[in-house]
Amino acid sequence: MTIRIENLSKRYGDFTALDDISLNVRDGELLALLGPSGSGKTTLLRAIAGLEQADGGRVLLGGEDASQLSVQARRVGFVFQHYALFRHMNVRENIAFGLRVRRGEKRWPDARIRERVSELLSLVQLEGLESRFPSQLSGGQRQRVALARALAIEPRVLLLDEPFGALDAQVRRDLRRWLREIHDRTGLTTVFVTHDQEEALELADRVAILNQGRIEQLGSPAETYDEPASPFVYSFVGAVNRLPGYSTQGRLQVAGLDLDLRDKPELQGPIELYVRPEHLAVTDSGDTWLATVLASQRSGPRQRLWARLQEGDAEVEVELPGGAGLPAYPTGSQIRLAPSRFGVFAAEK
Ligand code: ATP
Repeated sequence: MTIRIENLSKRYGDFTALDDISLNVRDGELLALLGPSGSGKTTLLRAIAGLEQADGGRVLLGGEDASQLSVQARRVGFVFQHYALFRHMNVRENIAFGLRVRRGEKRWPDARIRERVSELLSLVQLEGLESRFPSQLSGGQRQRVALARALAIEPRVLLLDEPFGALDAQVRRDLRRWLREIHDRTGLTTVFVTHDQEEALELADRVAILNQGRIEQLGSPAETYDEPASPFVYSFVGAVNRLPGYSTQGRLQVAGLDLDLRDKPELQGPIELYVRPEHLAVTDSGDTWLATVLASQRSGPRQRLWARLQEGDAEVEVELPGGAGLPAYPTGSQIRLAPSRFGVFAAEK
């Protein structure tokens, strides 16, 4: 089922939570909404679910305008960060809840409900735990029950709001892989809210990056990392160095280095160059910045340097492969650095 969001806006008093957002989620896609706290991710998710009334714009589910559809009629599965499972119900009863409350023709016979719950227990790998109560489960297991419960009603789309937010790093990583597998098996169109860029880049087919109620960029994880569309995306997704410079007639001057700027000839005047730590190479060939190492740190297979460029007096972070047999750069040593890849934007006024 596709989700089409057209010019959605939402204000709380003077505050604009969603600012004319348009977005198409493809059928069967796992899309991450990534952004800092307060950027509007949850508001957007709630608007898709019908839990929030937008001030303008509309949501189409499978091409059908959902504005007039109730939350139930939209048939969305929802999992929140702190999903309150019913404490007095065991795992099986929690999962069956959405099916048991159905009335009339929609109500399935008990045998069918039992069968569906068993299928879901197997899907979320909780067989054997069906008689436990939520208090007898780990945080990760509870979120798996929450997901099974959301899936029980056979939703048309799945909406997840930081479902692993409260769990520790290792459990999060395991659940991430597991969610991807479940997604691939069910093929459900899924929108996933996170403020964790690693989670978004690892899990999603595409990532929508939100800032102040607007989408700054929509693209594959590789595109958003390799070709950030704005200074905000550069800084929010991954680490980056920012260097002031000047652009004129397709050439850039940055900290004494002359660089070619073929792809943005329209940029004239003060600019900022954005270069990721791993896109600074230590090299003696070609045009380079002369720099002094301020500090270095080895972390597993990588080494990280902090260096000061001789011209312009800017400090940069450099990430290099590290390990036995590879050169190390002690504090105080002189190195030459060249950017292998960078982005350029007009300097903020
Ligand atoms: P987080 O990662 O912290 O959950 P978010 O990106 O999901 O943030 P939203 O929850 O969508 O952000 O909130 C967007 C903005 O709207 C926030 O600044 C929030 O304070 C504001 N907001 C949300 N709900 C209301 C409300 N009911 N009344 C007033 N302001 C609200």
